[in-house]
Amino acid sequence: MDDLMGIHVPPPREDFAIREVFVDHALRKDPLPHIDYSFNPYVGCFHQCAFCYVPRLMQTDRAAWGRSVVVKRNAASVLAREVRKLPRGLVAISTATDPYQFVEGMYRITRHALEVLLRAGWPVSVLSRSGLMLRDVDLFVQFKEIEVGMSVPTLDDNARKLLEPWAPSIESRLRCLRELADAGLTTFVGFAPAYPPTGGWTAGAIADIFESIDVRKVFTRPLDARWGVRESMLARLEDSAVSRDLARISDRGYMAGFIDELAAECKARGIEFRNAEEFRIGVRMAPSLKV
Ligand code: SF4
Repeated sequence: MDDLMGIHVPPPREDFAIREVFVDHALRKDPLPHIDYSFNPYVGCFHQCAFCYVPRLMQTDRAAWGRSVVVKRNAASVLAREVRKLPRGLVAISTATDPYQFVEGMYRITRHALEVLLRAGWPVSVLSRSGLMLRDVDLFVQFKEIEVGMSVPTLDDNARKLLEPWAPSIESRLRCLRELADAGLTTFVGFAPAYPPTGGWTAGAIADIFESIDVRKVFTRPLDARWGVRESMLARLEDSAVSRDLARISDRGYMAGFIDELAAECKARGIEFRNAEEFRIGVRMAPSLKV
């Protein structure tokens, strides 16, 4: 599992559980603007990000989040039936899991779903934190309408290690974006939830990096610290050298100023920038995180 076609795939933690299920539905109507449907090949996520909003959506125990994944074994064949019946629309892969977490190397549910959508001629938007996405470039380049992206909510890997310790490094995500752009694909960055600029990074320096790897679009949204996210993050920030700076992640005023600055720097470099109000309807701001 360490290496798949030259792509590093982290081995599973020993206490990580994998379960298989068969589903009746594959596509879900999605409330996000610019998206018609979401396709989630898995339930659960190995990356165990401290801020993940999915436990709240699923109303599951946050403490158990990241300890198991449920594999939807027949999701691609159910999808094949659904694309014959439903109106054609943009499919987001994925909105409630990472479609390229390590189990995808074993099960290939995401890849099979892409094959279905390619045959049907449906547009897709793919988002991950994992370079395993590069395995499917051969499919991506055959789509007429596609955008592919990585979540890169900070350029400071020390901050990433604190809040998303099981997710791939920032450097590997940037490398993945570079290779996707080199393949001629339109790439985007999910700067979400927006981290404050720690580790000496500035808005201008972050925009420079995005420009250097030909990122075409950036979208962002602020942290929502409710529903146990605050407590989960506080536990990870304890005793950390960057905890004071990183805690500004939920300082509304500070983050709004930083995001405005990042938006201006991106736009000055020709990178499209969308904020939460444009990206998601009805986002409410979170209470401040105090450490
Ligand atoms: S990668 Fe996405 S779905 Fe997975 S834990 Fe992190 S935020 Fe949640």
